[in-house]
Amino acid sequence: MYGKFKNYLTDELSAIQEAGLFKNERVITSPQGAAITVGNGQEVLNFCANNYLGLSNHPRLIAAAKKAMDERGYGMSSVRFICGTQDTHKELEAAITDFFKTEDTILYAACFDANGGVFEPLLSEQDAIISDSLNHASIIDGVRLCKAKRYRYANADMADLEKQLQDAQEQRFRLIVTDGVFSMDGNVAPMDKICDLAEKYDAMVMVDESHSAGVVGQTGRGVSEKFNTYGRVDIYTGTLGKSFGGAVGGFTTGRKEIIDMLRQRSRPYLFSNSIPPMVAAAGTEVFNMLKENNDIHDKLVKNVEYFRTRMIDAGFDILPTQSAICAVMLYDAKLSQDMAAELQKEGIYVTGFYYPVVPKGKARIRVQISAAHELEHLDKCIAAFIKIGTQLGVLK
Ligand SMILES: *Cc1c(COP(=O)(O)O)cnc(C)c1O
Repeated sequence: MYGKFKNYLTDELSAIQEAGLFKNERVITSPQGAAITVGNGQEVLNFCANNYLGLSNHPRLIAAAKKAMDERGYGMSSVRFICGTQDTHKELEAAITDFFKTEDTILYAACFDANGGVFEPLLSEQDAIISDSLNHASIIDGVRLCKAKRYRYANADMADLEKQLQDAQEQRFRLIVTDGVFSMDGNVAPMDKICDLAEKYDAMVMVDESHSAGVVGQTGRGVSEKFNTYGRVDIYTGTLGKSFGGAVGGFTTGRKEIIDMLRQRSRPYLFSNSIPPMVAAAGTEVFNMLKENNDIHDKLVKNVEYFRTRMIDAGFDILPTQSAICAVMLYDAKLSQDMAAELQKEGIYVTGFYYPVVPKGKARIRVQISAAHELEHLDKCIAAFIKIGTQLGVLK
């Protein structure tokens, strides 16, 4: 049997390769950070990690993880409700609840699991989920696992959301779901307007804070801090894999009864292993650090502002970001790949995106700014963009 299947896979894989969509893993031989070493020994400045707060290799998190490993061991060998809950897990849940000013929190192995396990236990065929068209794959998969009727609205388009809400009035319960920050454009979901429409049309609101938490809002507390929608958002999901240390882990935080029900019925929580003590303890240390002062977040905001201003002054076409994601628009797919390759030769590590990851004719290089970047890193990146941009005719 495998012979036929092997031929089928080989053909499919060549088709992916021919379409220029084959994904190669790029190997790094150093810790994650602003400057990294890649497979060939080259040192490059990293502008494509989700390491927004620069915590991936932070000494305090490493120390917290080591201490937890010494005191609580390596692994849990259990799901949470059997014997996979330590004090470290409860402490992290409490820290997340405090950070988002919610009522309770449930941990998952990843935000992919949080989103996979949030809809099905809460909603049924009598209900409606109204989802932004650019929501993350894990939300799309989570919605598929749930029998609720699905509605989709164009990205951050409030007129379309209103129309979908009107169409969904027959259903028993309605849940609007959106990413906080959309990862390709770096735009923020208009949470205040979403909450207004939710009230008008009697709907609940869920936001995935994976790219927004730690980044948006005065102190990086996410969309509810930015739009003052505290108490109006029912469910938040998020990851520990981006701003908050970058290791692994996800969570759902929000209204008490919702979290209570997820602990009873959410399948990725009930049937998947608990996160290791060192990850839970280092996660708690992240939130302790962010409570002490706003220095890290302030630095990120300054870095984004510095980079954007200078890139726009240089003549680049940058989408109006409200996050740490700066999309340098090139429009042409091949140009986005050539430019990323040339930038890497200059020691700048970035990724070019084109159709189908972004719409046709909207190819770009996505630059992700971090609090780990120093001004000299940003200057070097900007200089390389100007040099290569001029060479390739992007800048006149
Ligand atoms: C990265 C991301 C996820 C997945 O998070 P993991 O913890 O890595 O599984 C989910 N949702 C959004 C919006 C993301 O950007």
